[in-house]
Amino acid sequence: MEEKGNKRSFGGLKLNTALLQVLERQGYETPTPVQQRLIPVLLAGTSAVASAQTGSGKTLAFLLPALQQMNPDALPVTNHYPRLFILSPTKELAQQIFEVSMPFVRKLGFRSVLLQGGGKRNEESRKLEQGVDVVIATPQRALEHIEARHIDVKGLKHLVVDEADMMFDMGFVSYLEKIFGMMTERSQKVIVSATITPRVVKLAKAHIKALRRIELDPPGKIADSVTQMLYPVVKSKKSALLAWLISSENLKRVLVFVRKKELADGVAEALRAWDYKVGILHGERMHQERRKALRAFREGEYQILVATDIAARGLDISDLDVVINYDIPHVKHDFIHRVGRTGRAGKEGIAMTLVSPEEIEQLKDLQKVLGSKIKEVILPDYAPKDVKSRGYLMQPPQRRRRTPKPDSKKGASSPLNKKGKKRKTTKRDGFKILDASRKTEKQNSRGKKRK
Ligand code: ADP
Ligand code: MG
Repeated sequence: MEEKGNKRSFGGLKLNTALLQVLERQGYETPTPVQQRLIPVLLAGTSAVASAQTGSGKTLAFLLPALQQMNPDALPVTNHYPRLFILSPTKELAQQIFEVSMPFVRKLGFRSVLLQGGGKRNEESRKLEQGVDVVIATPQRALEHIEARHIDVKGLKHLVVDEADMMFDMGFVSYLEKIFGMMTERSQKVIVSATITPRVVKLAKAHIKALRRIELDPPGKIADSVTQMLYPVVKSKKSALLAWLISSENLKRVLVFVRKKELADGVAEALRAWDYKVGILHGERMHQERRKALRAFREGEYQILVATDIAARGLDISDLDVVINYDIPHVKHDFIHRVGRTGRAGKEGIAMTLVSPEEIEQLKDLQKVLGSKIKEVILPDYAPKDVKSRGYLMQPPQRRRRTPKPDSKKGASSPLNKKGKKRKTTKRDGFKILDASRKTEKQNSRGKKRK
């Protein structure tokens, strides 16, 4: 950690002693690739649009250089406007960034405030009037305070927009335009996401003169540590399959994504009927309910959280080893973010996607993003009849291959056994999915024989 000049250590990245101490105390040992790349660039005051895959450590990559550049000695004691402004598209992510930043902010003697709507406006205003250094906010609420002159955007030294492309998806771009428009050229602007879209780059170019584009991973890359499985399923059997997967695979902490709010309620109800403890997170719920659901899920009180895509962005939930897509999201790149809630910081993760025949067109569209990484698992009790042996995406119309015998090399390969490599032994070895997939193959071949 103390090693100087070596970007593979935090010390070598020229972070100051106070920040290094907090990093050490928090158990961060070596910087991730995006931190190695971005921290020096941002410490030099450069504005940047940066993309790196989900779970790669972007938060500290934008946070630490900004905090370091804010010189605490130059501060009046009270009544000053914030100098670092971090915008997040969702309240939950704003809250998380606030929590991640807290130990660093405290150590440097700064004050920070979280502005995220849902009541407490007066309390927020009071804090802003007393003077703060760091503001973490959702865009709409931020603008309310800017318009009430609690925040002076002209005086801002650093602006960070996290999950920038989601700002467009959520219709927040006019807020961003306004905020960018009010800032001076000298201020540093940093825009990050795992999926930077052309619209984001266009917005950045319109407002930032000297802009660096930093691309750690190809846009939309899914971490190699995530293993994906696709389950063809009859639409009416989705909830039953979901419950079956959770119980038969003994899944401990499961994040289920659905497209629509109503569906979230319905799926949660179906799971509760199976006696699961289930939380719900979607935009129609009250702020307090959203907070409670996420907290209870983080703390393990709920085994399952059923959420819409608002929970797909940025959330870092420890020990979340399985994401289940109940359907395919409206916005293609949301799939990457959904799946990116697992397999974070190099840990292994599993993403299961349930697809009914009605969604085949969307699936084909999505396949461009997925590449050939996805393995289809056909469960005869749930799969539509006509895909029982072939799967939806069955790679090239295969040379009429017979259904593999369970003990043949191919038939025995499991969905977790990526690229035919021998699996390392992991804590996930308890996963019965290996057996399940073998059973499936067996059942498949039996089913065939019976016909
Ligand atoms: P991203 O924003 O790229 O999706 P996050 O910033 O949320 O990723 O970080 C993902 C996870 O990695 C978090 O749990 C975080 O604590 C962890 N993490 C970040 N930086 C490091 C590091 N240098 N060493 C180990 N873990 C890290
Ligand atoms: Mg993030």
